[in-house]
Amino acid sequence: MRLAKRMERLGTETAFSVLAKAKALEAQGREIIHLEIGEPDFPTPENIVEAGCRALRDGHTHYTPTAGIPELREAIAADVARSRGIPVRPEQVVVTPGGKPIMFFTILALVEEGDEVLLPSPAFPIYESMVNFAGGKPVFLPLRQEKGFRLDLDEFRAGLSDRTKLVILNSPANPTGGVLTSEDLSGLADILRERSDVFVLSDEIYSRLIYSGQFASITSEPDLGPDGHTIILDGFSKTYAMTGWRLGYGVMPEPLAAEVATLQVNSNSCTNAATQYAGLEALTGQQESVEQMLAEFRARRDLMVTGLNALPGVECATPQGAFYAFPRITDSGYNANELADLLLQEAGVACLSGTGFGHHGEGHLRFSYANSRQNICRALERMGEILSQTAER
Ligand code: PLP
Repeated sequence: MRLAKRMERLGTETAFSVLAKAKALEAQGREIIHLEIGEPDFPTPENIVEAGCRALRDGHTHYTPTAGIPELREAIAADVARSRGIPVRPEQVVVTPGGKPIMFFTILALVEEGDEVLLPSPAFPIYESMVNFAGGKPVFLPLRQEKGFRLDLDEFRAGLSDRTKLVILNSPANPTGGVLTSEDLSGLADILRERSDVFVLSDEIYSRLIYSGQFASITSEPDLGPDGHTIILDGFSKTYAMTGWRLGYGVMPEPLAAEVATLQVNSNSCTNAATQYAGLEALTGQQESVEQMLAEFRARRDLMVTGLNALPGVECATPQGAFYAFPRITDSGYNANELADLLLQEAGVACLSGTGFGHHGEGHLRFSYANSRQNICRALERMGEILSQTAER
């Protein structure tokens, strides 16, 4: 088959390939503990499910406006305005099937052949994949465990060039659980203010999953809001345990929102109608479920971090947000791919090699702790057995 050349530049997300491998082992009768996929294991809160069902019964089974139903765009604008302390108009909001299409659409709309894009490494693999697909050149900013996986401002400044078109930020971060502080963001803003030709894609999909202090967004910095050159990516998947509903959004300069809506009309037409009504209820209804999920994630994080640090050859920093632990495993005697494979095959624990998030992820594994405390304990026990055997050899 002769495919278009551009397909060679498209990457993937290893979480889905490891999930498939783990499912194949399960089909052979093996029992696998899933710590690979990044999705809350909680059911979607009942009020949201009911709103989705009601929407279907009320006949919301047709196309909607491309950028989303007006009520939802208004509710998102109000929510983002409140949480980031900035003015937002509904016209700046584009509702999409998950947050991911905002990456796809904004990178396609902004990045030209040869343009440079600054992105953290390790990071969500779709950034690099999409930049390459669009013909851009990724420029990596290393995130290091010693620095709490936060960006280094000198490296950031040095990474900018005349060809830089876009900067991608992600806080709280996947896969590291690192969080940029307000000081980090104000330092970044000082640098970016001098470069009004550079766009910023701020992936804030984990904005509600933060364990200490307040969430801080680059858009709260003067001149860096979505009226300037910044695009916020956020959504419902992680906050409201709605991964399968496919609902996310971008908030961006109005002229860009019109272009992104055109990309959407060329691909999905619009986001599922009933899902959008469910999202409206998620934003405007009770928020206790979010608090409860966050409290449970915090307990699991502590369990996971303590357990990982007790394993031979493993050293884990405490993640400040999201639901991932990203321990260093260099002292285990294995590289990241080898250890991830060994844990799946021998211990029945599915996790991801840090290399799936870029080459700066070597020497680390990513564990999603969106699983029950009981399963986390069982996984730690099984990993302990394998790693102690190796340490004895
Ligand atoms: N951004 C980051 C950093 C993620 O980890 C994910 C999902 O794993 C997404 C965006 C996309 O989320 P969704 O498309 O499910 O809303």
